[in-house]
Amino acid sequence: MPKEWSASQTAEELVQTGIRPSAPRVAVLRSLKSRTDHPTAEMLYCDLKDDNPSLSLATVYNTVKVLLAKELIQEVPGGGETLRFDGDISVHGHFFCDECQSVSDIFYDRDTPIPPPPEGYRVRGVRIQYHGLCPKCGKSGC
Ligand SMILES: [Zn+2]
Ligand SMILES: [Zn+2]
Repeated sequence: MPKEWSASQTAEELVQTGIRPSAPRVAVLRSLKSRTDHPTAEMLYCDLKDDNPSLSLATVYNTVKVLLAKELIQEVPGGGETLRFDGDISVHGHFFCDECQSVSDIFYDRDTPIPPPPEGYRVRGVRIQYHGLCPKCGKSGC
């Protein structure tokens, strides 16, 4: 579980990465570091706009682009059309719920056996993705 990130800690991390710690950047990065629900840009905007009245959805999109380019956050691929973002940049997999579209982390040992690549292919990275039903959606309705 990520710890609660303070605004000053977040600003410090931005400065260290060479990014000017503008208010939207601090707000977006701090939110992503503090949550595990892999929000979309729209979800970030909805959650942050009350505390940041000058924030626009376009600013959120631009901000995640900057944070992605500096590898402070990562994209979660495989969730369909809508991109989801992850403040946890460690290597881990994801479980996509087909019903409620929730995305949960799967942490695994680096020694977990995975299928070998085809002959002659060089692996640069591995992504583990499951999809199915989360515990909430997997419960039968009756
Ligand atoms: Zn679900
Ligand atoms: Zn994740």
